[in-house]
Amino acid sequence: MSAPSTSPPAPITVRTTTWACSVCGADAPRPYRMEMYTIGSTRFHLVRCRDCGLVYVNPRPDEATLSAMYDDESYYTAGYNLGVEDQNYFERKDELIALGGIAWERIEKETAGQGRAMELGSAGGFFLEAARRRGWQVAGVELSPPAARYCKRTFEFEVFEGWLEDAPYETESFDLTIADNVLEHTTDPRATLRQLRSLTKPGGHVLVIVPTYVNSGFFRLLNLAQFILPRRLLGTKLCSMLKLDDSDRGYPYHILEFNRSNLVDLAKSAGLEILSVEGSLPRPAHLFKVKDLSPINRIWRGIFITLDHLMGLRLAPAARIRLLARRPAHSTE
Ligand SMILES: [Zn+2]
Repeated sequence: MSAPSTSPPAPITVRTTTWACSVCGADAPRPYRMEMYTIGSTRFHLVRCRDCGLVYVNPRPDEATLSAMYDDESYYTAGYNLGVEDQNYFERKDELIALGGIAWERIEKETAGQGRAMELGSAGGFFLEAARRRGWQVAGVELSPPAARYCKRTFEFEVFEGWLEDAPYETESFDLTIADNVLEHTTDPRATLRQLRSLTKPGGHVLVIVPTYVNSGFFRLLNLAQFILPRRLLGTKLCSMLKLDDSDRGYPYHILEFNRSNLVDLAKSAGLEILSVEGSLPRPAHLFKVKDLSPINRIWRGIFITLDHLMGLRLAPAARIRLLARRPAHSTE
C-alpha cells in the first residue's frame, strides 16, 4: 500500500482562544518562547505556568482550527518528528513495526501478558500491528483522516476515525490503553486520561508517553544558543528543531509541553495509580541505522547513548517521559 500523497497545505481559517494551565488551572503564565509555530501569517507563542511548570501554546488554535490542522495531508509526512528524521512516518513502516515488537515485549513483562489493547492516536497502525502479530486483540482511535484511512486499508483491525469520546468502545473493555505522543496535542489532557481510564478494566494498565524536550533545560539552553552562536554553527537540524526559520516553524500541533512532575500530578488527578516513570532520549533513526560509521557519527551516537542513560537515571532532564499507570483494581466510575 502506498502512503498518503503529500500536497501543499490548504489555507486554514485561523481562530484562536486563550486558556489557563490545563494541569493546575493557574492563569498567569510567563512568556517562554516567542514565535514557536505558525499557521499562515498567524504566529503562536509558548508560555510557562508559574505554578506547575507546564509549557503551553497561548493563545492556542480553537477547536475548529485544530480539526482543520489534522485534516492536513502533510501532518504525517512533513516536519515529522521535529524535522529530525530524514524519512517520513509511512516510509518507516517495516522498521516501526519491528521497533514496536521490542516495545510490546517489554509491555508484556510489565502487564502480565497479552490481552485487549486500544491505542489513542494510532496513526498508520504500525504499533498496533506489532501487538496483533504477538497475539493481542487491538483497536485504535485516530483523528487524522489520511492516517486512519491508510491504517484501515493496510491492516485488519478496528480503527475509529475521530475523537476518543465518540469512539464506539465499551467502558472497562481493555486490558491496556495507550496514548503515545498524544497528550501534548489535547486541549483537556485530564479528561483524555479519564476517558482512557474509563475504557480500561479495573486493574488494567494505561501507558502514556510524551515528549518533554521543549520543557527541559536542554531546550532552554539551546534556545539561548541562537542568540550567541551564528546559524551555521548550529547546523540545519538544530535550526529546524529550534524552529528558527519562518519556513520551518510548522503548525502548533504540540499545544502542551509537560515535564515529569506535572505529568505525574495530572495522571494522579485523573484517578490513575502510577507504577513507573522513566525518562529517555529518542534515538534519531538516521543516525542509528547507519552501518558504516564515520568518526562524527560515532561521536554523535555516543552522545545520544550517554544522554539517554543519564536521563534514565534522572541525572539529566528527560527529552521524553514514559509513564505506566494502573486503574485501581476496585475502582468504579
Ligand atoms: Zn499549572
